[in-house]
Amino acid sequence: MKQGIRVAEAQEIVLQHVQPLGIEKVPLLAALHRVLATDVVSPRHIPPHDNAAMDGYAVRHHDIAAATPERPVRLPVLEVLPAGKRPTQEVKPGTAIKIMTGAPMPAGADTVVPVEQTNGSDTQVAIYRAPRPGSNLRPRGEDIALGECVLQQHTPLRPAELGLLASVGLAQVLVYQQPRVAILATGDEIADPGDADSADKILNSNSYTLAGQVREAGGLPLLLGVAPDDPEVISQRIASGLRADVLITSGGVSVGDFDYVRACLDKAGLQVHFWTVALRPGSPVTFGTVGQVPVFSLPGNPVASMVTFELFVRPALRKMTGHRELFRPYTRAVLQESVQKRRGVRTFLRGILRQEGEEATVTTTGAAGLWHSALHEPGQLPHRPSRRR
Ligand code: AMP
Ligand code: MG
Repeated sequence: MKQGIRVAEAQEIVLQHVQPLGIEKVPLLAALHRVLATDVVSPRHIPPHDNAAMDGYAVRHHDIAAATPERPVRLPVLEVLPAGKRPTQEVKPGTAIKIMTGAPMPAGADTVVPVEQTNGSDTQVAIYRAPRPGSNLRPRGEDIALGECVLQQHTPLRPAELGLLASVGLAQVLVYQQPRVAILATGDEIADPGDADSADKILNSNSYTLAGQVREAGGLPLLLGVAPDDPEVISQRIASGLRADVLITSGGVSVGDFDYVRACLDKAGLQVHFWTVALRPGSPVTFGTVGQVPVFSLPGNPVASMVTFELFVRPALRKMTGHRELFRPYTRAVLQESVQKRRGVRTFLRGILRQEGEEATVTTTGAAGLWHSALHEPGQLPHRPSRRR
């Protein structure tokens, strides 16, 4: 078991102990924000056949090469072809087929003359100008060729990717399973919002923040409620939490007289991989496994709880859900004030980033305990027009 280690080392240890879950097939729309579990190869050409890129006339270029406004080329029109219909005839030398955008190119034709360069007739077309040979058509497979890999395994599926999967004909898609993440709050002083007799209690905010963080990281939160500081109750809840894919506990991991979480986890068979990280806030964070189930014991302080989730749980959930990008992007900015920091302790402060021309600057939002101040920074509140009466 490691103690007081660096953040990066702790993150590595966590990632060594989690693996992507299994895969499942879901309807296309249910795959939004999930991660693709296979390469996807297109089973068709897109577009499926050569087709007209403009409304006009499908012709043999050779026939119309000499067309000018003064000496138009006149050709009989064999048929009028809407998009979605197949041609019934071939364009033989000296003939044309009137064709709409998206309609399949008839055999024999190699060029589309835009309707604007003709008299627009349905029977006998006069062509005033010859476009370049082969112009105004989209060849079969121009967008996607049959057999082409359109998306790779581990790609997160956003709206554009769903459309791409639909366009190659997939109604269902193989994605990584979502981890079920049990969340247990602890503390005699903690009550759930809505509980009776909560007037002089501290309300359980951590479970809801954590559940939101779990969801945003691609997991499925399961709220196990608040356990009192009673080893028997805590042990029962831990046992049900261990039936999930991941267990998070919140609070009760300090060394106070009533901090039973660690002892109860030990009793449940926890193999501890690290205990405490050189980090502020959140140093008492503990990570271990019970069998295959990763267990994160996060400190009860709400800011520490969020920070340690962000640093250790989120990358783990991303790995389990098949993501390749496990960490958030970061940027450098010039701090506009002095802050206190202990040597050798990675310190996280809430900041407000501003981009002013070339320079990025950052200011802190105030004292660490006052985390709600981050939400109420006046400059950051979006302007909302006053409501009409
Ligand atoms: P603990 O880690 O149990 O010593 O708790 C540290 C601090 O966090 C205490 O002030 C607790 O009241 C507070 N705290 C613990 N759990 C929660 C929770 N679920 N929601 C909000 N605050 C909590
Ligand atoms: Mg406590």
